[in-house]
Amino acid sequence: MAKIAIDLKSGSIKKEDNLIIGIDLGTTNSLVAHIVDGEPVIVRDPAGKTGLVPSIIHFALDGSIQVGNDAREHLVDEPGRTIFSVKRLMGKSYNDIAAFEHQFGYQILNDDQDRLVKVRVDDSFYTPIELSAHILRALKERVEQSLAKSVEKAVITVPAYFNDAQRQATRDAGRLAGLDVLRIVNEPTAASLAYGIGLTPEDHKTIAVYDLGGGTFDVSILRIEDGVFEVLSTNGDTFLGGDDLDQAIVEHWVKQIGQGGHSLPDRQRLRLEAEQAKKVLSAERRFFTEYQGIPLELTRDELEALIAPFVDRTLESCRAALSDAGLKTDMIDEVIMVGGSTRIPLVKQRVSDFFQRPVHDELNPDEVVAAGAAIQADILAGNRKDLLLLDITPLSLGIETVGGLMDVIIPRNTKVPCGYARNYTTSVDGQKNLKVAVYQGERDLVENNRKLAEFILRDIPPMPAGIPKLEIRFQLNADGILQVFAKELRSETMTSIEIRPQYGIDEEEMARMLLDSIRFAEQDMQLKALTEARTEGRMMVQSADKFIDQNTSWLSEEEIARIRELSAELHSAIQGDQKDIIQSRIESLNEFTTPLAHRAMEVHVAGAMKGQVIK
Ligand code: ADP
Ligand code: MG
Repeated sequence: MAKIAIDLKSGSIKKEDNLIIGIDLGTTNSLVAHIVDGEPVIVRDPAGKTGLVPSIIHFALDGSIQVGNDAREHLVDEPGRTIFSVKRLMGKSYNDIAAFEHQFGYQILNDDQDRLVKVRVDDSFYTPIELSAHILRALKERVEQSLAKSVEKAVITVPAYFNDAQRQATRDAGRLAGLDVLRIVNEPTAASLAYGIGLTPEDHKTIAVYDLGGGTFDVSILRIEDGVFEVLSTNGDTFLGGDDLDQAIVEHWVKQIGQGGHSLPDRQRLRLEAEQAKKVLSAERRFFTEYQGIPLELTRDELEALIAPFVDRTLESCRAALSDAGLKTDMIDEVIMVGGSTRIPLVKQRVSDFFQRPVHDELNPDEVVAAGAAIQADILAGNRKDLLLLDITPLSLGIETVGGLMDVIIPRNTKVPCGYARNYTTSVDGQKNLKVAVYQGERDLVENNRKLAEFILRDIPPMPAGIPKLEIRFQLNADGILQVFAKELRSETMTSIEIRPQYGIDEEEMARMLLDSIRFAEQDMQLKALTEARTEGRMMVQSADKFIDQNTSWLSEEEIARIRELSAELHSAIQGDQKDIIQSRIESLNEFTTPLAHRAMEVHVAGAMKGQVIK
């Protein structure tokens, strides 16, 4: 394998090995681009028709996996094995997505509501990270085939509103796909770079980026100064996009068809016709087709009437974003259109009216983000001398959590100075001391990373497990000094230490650590998944025991025996090393105990009421 030549001071890749790709990992479509003679080029399918890869993964019954257009065809016939909109699940727990779970045609696990979600296909369980990695691998292969050489380094874009967990999940997906993710870049920043805005240090501007995609809408207001992009505000609706417009057309047609006395065609197929109609009407004034003997028609005027309410909602978001940034429309220097749905003339018109200026629509709106990611990659590769590179952290910094796992607090390539905090809690009742072990590196298990320090937060007032709020804050200053603060927020107990992460480590060692993190990504993530499944399983076994103890009075003997049996089966799975077996036994135990837990609640409530009456 090629050695990764990284200039650790600047965070750039050395000259001899300077191809870095730019990836737009979208909710609906993903793309990959790279630079040829200074200009971004979108990598197209072998037929050269489209650069878009639908963000869809299909798990066939025979075990093969398809991504993109081939997978898309199975949305209708095998919804349970065809995964779409993975981006909505990145870095999310079940509680985060419960409200829109019904929108997915596939199964999402709900056994632990606070942990990161998993998707179930038959007896396999997939994290959104693994699913996104499939899409990234397909993109990686696409470039490699087109260039006839291997590619290892990438810049990946995410929405400006993504939080740390979502960004970290995106990094992990890249690593699992065999990519060294040099930077996670905001989508609006990439779009701006594609238009050459912010490319020269003299560019001082405030811009609005309006992004209407397939399922999501967001608008970001950015301030650009000395090559630094600051997000002043973002707003939007994660459930508003081209899909809703298609749906509005379907409803319109269904009404028409109903009046004509025809029987209703399959809605899913009608949706595809509706999308076609919408696209045609971005260029023409009328659309005609015939579907199962039924003539279907739509004019641009009709379409505009149908979608006007949606466009109004996006402009409300623009108004809110401006107000959050404390700006007026005339303080915006440029407006950039992003996302396939901004091809609609009405959308361009209304946005332009709102900001009272012409909007940027010269580039393909579904390609600008990938193009900008490629430009950012080129900057990191050190190919654009005019741009200053900021000081960055060469390796990730984090702490050890249950099971010896590394929890990253400051990801590698973050610009310094910076400060990040994360919250934790205890796992044992009455725990008084908390050990904080600080590590540096990219591997999932701390044992493979470099230990920097360890200290103890003492005298936490005794509380039941899960109640203390422990905040760990990392503060890295411009001289490379890391301060770690540990604080129990309820009691204000706190302590801190100071470390120099770069002390005693040379560039070669760092390069080796990076290389290993990619080489062992697959293995590491399997181990991490197994460790997490074991931890979850152990907690389930414990609470099953507790549950029996607390409810012996009303549980039947058969019920107790069954819980014991399922719990013993889970216990023995934990001793093994098959995460999917542990996971499905957690599921079984959970399925059996959930209705009992509901009954226990009723029993306790009834008991409490009785108590009141006696008093
Ligand atoms: P995302 O960023 O969410 O992955 P895209 O930016 O690729 O999505 O946008 C996909 C959406 O753009 C789809 O709803 C698609 O129907 C819509 N779209 C693509 N081309 C056109 C067009 N010519 N006119 C109207 N909508 C279009
Ligand atoms: Mg997009």
